[in-house]
Amino acid sequence: MFRIPCPYCGPRDATEFRHQGESRNRPDPRTVTRGQWRAYLYEKDNVAGWTRENWYHGVGCRRFISVERNTVTNETRPAAAAAGAVDPVLPGAEAGAPDADSTRR
Ligand SMILES: [Zn+2]
Repeated sequence: MFRIPCPYCGPRDATEFRHQGESRNRPDPRTVTRGQWRAYLYEKDNVAGWTRENWYHGVGCRRFISVERNTVTNETRPAAAAAGAVDPVLPGAEAGAPDADSTRR
C-alpha cells in the first residue's frame, strides 16, 4: 500500500481515498465535437510512469484532490485541490460557526 499526501489532512493511507481517474481538462460542451467528447470520456492515457490523477478523500476531509503518482512505483508528489473542486459543506460548518474539528474535542 502507499500513502497519499492530502493537502488538508497530511499523508494518509491510500485506502482512505477513492481513485477518480486521470486529471484532464473538460472540453467546452458548446464547442466540442462528438469525437473530442468521446475521447474525453473514454480514452485514457494509462501512463506507465508519472501521471496526474484525481482522488476523493472520503474517510478524511471529503475533498477532491489532484495528485501526481508514479503508476509503476506508487510514489507520490505533493498534492493540491483538484481543478474546479468545491469545498464540501460539512454539518455544523456554517459561516461564523467553529470549524467541525474544534467541536469534537
Ligand atoms: Zn484529506
